[in-house]
Amino acid sequence: MSDAPRSHGRKTIRPSLKPRDLMTEAPALARAWHAQVITLFPEAFPGILGLSLTGKALQQELWQLQTVPLRAFGEGKHRNVDDTPAGGGAGMVLRPDVMGAAIEHARSQQHPGAPLIYLSPRGKPFSQAMARDMAQRPGVTLICGRFEGLDQRVIDHYRIAEVSIGDYVLTGGELAAQVMLDAAVRLLPGVLGNADSTEEESFSDGLLEHPQYTRPAEWQGRTIPDVLLSGHHGEIAKWRRQQSEDLTRTRRPDLWNALKARKDVP
Ligand code: SAH
Repeated sequence: MSDAPRSHGRKTIRPSLKPRDLMTEAPALARAWHAQVITLFPEAFPGILGLSLTGKALQQELWQLQTVPLRAFGEGKHRNVDDTPAGGGAGMVLRPDVMGAAIEHARSQQHPGAPLIYLSPRGKPFSQAMARDMAQRPGVTLICGRFEGLDQRVIDHYRIAEVSIGDYVLTGGELAAQVMLDAAVRLLPGVLGNADSTEEESFSDGLLEHPQYTRPAEWQGRTIPDVLLSGHHGEIAKWRRQQSEDLTRTRRPDLWNALKARKDVP
C-alpha cells in the first residue's frame, strides 16, 4: 500500500441526502421487466436498445430501463469514484464504498428476484441459456466497470455474479450491458412479432441455424435450393435440420459434442 499516492483507508463523509436529481427515478411500472444499469456513462443508454424491436418494446412499456449514475455517489466536491490500485500498478479501481452506495440505491428500487451482475472479462461466458434465464426473472441489475474494474470486496460482499460477453477486453461494461439486455429483452413476451422465431434460431436447441434465403429467386447466377421452393414442408424441415447439424458439427464442434453428450448418442 505504501507506494499508493493516496490513502485507501481515509475517513469519508457521506452526505445524508443522495443527489436524487441526478438519478433517473424508478419508473412506476410494477409489472414491466425492470433493467437497471449502474454506470459512469448513463448517457450511453438506451443507445442501440432504443431502436428497432427493443426500442419499440421500451416505448410500449414491455420493459423499463433505469440508469443509476455512479458519479452521483462519488466522494467529495469532485465526486471521485475511483482510486489507485492497492499494491501499485497501472490504472484506477472503482471504490467499494461508492459502488456499494450505488448498489444499495439500485437494489432498494429493484425486485429482490432480479439478479445482480457485474460485467467482467473474468465472468462466466454469457449464453443464450443465461439470456433466457434473465428474461424469466423480474429484471436484472447490471454493474458496468471502467478502468481496471471493481474493488474485489464489493463483489464478495454482495455476492455479485460476474458475466463476460467474450474473451476480449472492452474499455467499459456499457456495451456488454447492452449486448446482454438486447439478448434478454427480445425473449420477453410480446417483443418479437413472431413467437416462433426464438424457438428455431441458433442455440435454442443447441444447434446453429440453417442458411436463410429470400427473393429474388436468382441473384448473381446463384439460385435458392430447390427444396425451399418445393412447398413440401416435411422435406423443408428435414433439409433445414440437416443443414443445422452439418454447420454445427463443422463450425462448432464444442456445441456439437455438448449436444451429443446431452442426448446420449455416440
Ligand atoms: N482489468 C480488467 C479489465 C477491465 S476492463 C481485467 O483485466 O480483467 C473495464 C471494464 O470493462 C470491466 O470492469 C468490465 O465491466 C468491462 N468489460 C471489459 N471486457 C469485458 C467483457 N469481455 N465482458 C464484459 N465486460 C467487460
